[in-house]
Amino acid sequence: MSRIVMKNPIVEMDGDEMTRIIWAQLKEELLLPFIDLKTEYYDLGLKHRDETGDQVTVDAGEAIKRVHVGVKCATITPNEQRVAEYHLKKMWKSPNATIRAILDGTVFREPILVSCVKPVVRTWQKPITIARHAYGDVYKAVEYRVPSAGKAELVFTSSASEPFQEATFGVFQSTRPHGFSESSSETFHETVYDFEGAGVLQAMHNKDSSIISFAHACFRYALSRKQDLWFSTKDTISKQYDQTFKNLFQRVYDTEYAEQFKEAGITYFYTLIDDAVARVIRSEGGFVWACKNYDGDVMSDMISTAFGSLAMMTSVLVSPDGNFEFEAAHGTVTRHYYRHLKGEETSTNPIAMIFAWSGALRKRGELDKEDALITFADKLEAASLAVIERGIMTKDLALLCEGVKPEVVNTSDFIRAIRAAMTE
Ligand code: NAP
Ligand code: MG
Repeated sequence: MSRIVMKNPIVEMDGDEMTRIIWAQLKEELLLPFIDLKTEYYDLGLKHRDETGDQVTVDAGEAIKRVHVGVKCATITPNEQRVAEYHLKKMWKSPNATIRAILDGTVFREPILVSCVKPVVRTWQKPITIARHAYGDVYKAVEYRVPSAGKAELVFTSSASEPFQEATFGVFQSTRPHGFSESSSETFHETVYDFEGAGVLQAMHNKDSSIISFAHACFRYALSRKQDLWFSTKDTISKQYDQTFKNLFQRVYDTEYAEQFKEAGITYFYTLIDDAVARVIRSEGGFVWACKNYDGDVMSDMISTAFGSLAMMTSVLVSPDGNFEFEAAHGTVTRHYYRHLKGEETSTNPIAMIFAWSGALRKRGELDKEDALITFADKLEAASLAVIERGIMTKDLALLCEGVKPEVVNTSDFIRAIRAAMTE
């Protein structure tokens, strides 16, 4: 059998612990026999990140910008314990955060469905993809405890050299800060609260530029998947902050996507976050749900758990200028790795990692107009799901499955069963 030849490479980012072990097995068993794999390899394993002063992560991010498609293994985000464990020079930043900062992307998380694992929500028949804004809000907030009675103020000092134009606030009349006038280099004050005793205080921010690129990523993703897009915030309560998200989304939609959505037969739908939650639970799925940073963090765990397992959730980072980075949503599965090091067999689920590779290869195929790669990706995914549906599965799924008698296998045997299904 001749192997598929690739025109352009994929950026391959290796990782840590159990997922690093599985990464090598997947390539050996499921990719290299079928594809003349062309990758630009970056070792993001913690040891190599430390040796290169984390330059390798930056290089990988830049490489994705150049070749437009990347696939990433899970990596350790160091904490104090890891600094000691790996004798690190520094507590390096999360590689995902570094790459996200380079690509300026939005993260889409989609569950992988199999017929023998029923979602907790009975009406769900199709996957629900969470699109999580990956910048700002409470993740970049400034906060402290207020020690005593006193006045808290929100202060903004303009550094604009030009006088403000009406247009600065024009899209959203209500967003004028208190005391706004036509001159620049001003300071705006707004009382947050007159504290009568101790309490807490927090200030957070977001940027129009980031919200706009989030909106573009969501509209494009919905178009590429031919799925409706939902977006939800709490604009009735947050009349400036959340209202800005709502208005910018609407403006981006009206000016650039309304026509394309109509042609694709899909819709854009805005609603309040609490209404969205109620509707999501009653829906049959099959749409993209765009969420602000915190909402996306919480809702993606709710959605993945309700669909089955973290090991069955893919994640793709989509940048506004058309770069894609695919990975599994789970981490390096440390607990399994320590068992593996002791020589014990593990039954770690490789499905989300397989789908990261198939997603990247499919995208490469689409960008390069290489149908063979697209067909291969479809076949690999179908074979993987078919094996589970026959009852051969890893331990995590066996605990959830209904309707078939599960045969629990270790990771290697599971991967070999998929290989066998590929060549049937
Ligand atoms: P984790 O690796 O996702 O694992 C948490 C638990 O979920 C595991 O102990 C396991 O449960 C279950 N699990 C996750 N993936 C599984 C799979 N493929 N098959 C079977 N079970 C699976 O999260 P963590 O333990 O919190 O984090 C471990 C390391 O990963 C940390 O160093 C963290 O920094 C890193 N991390 C990286 C990424 C990323 O690169 N995108 C994301 C998250 C975390 P049982 O032990 O009960 O079987
Ligand atoms: Mg979370």
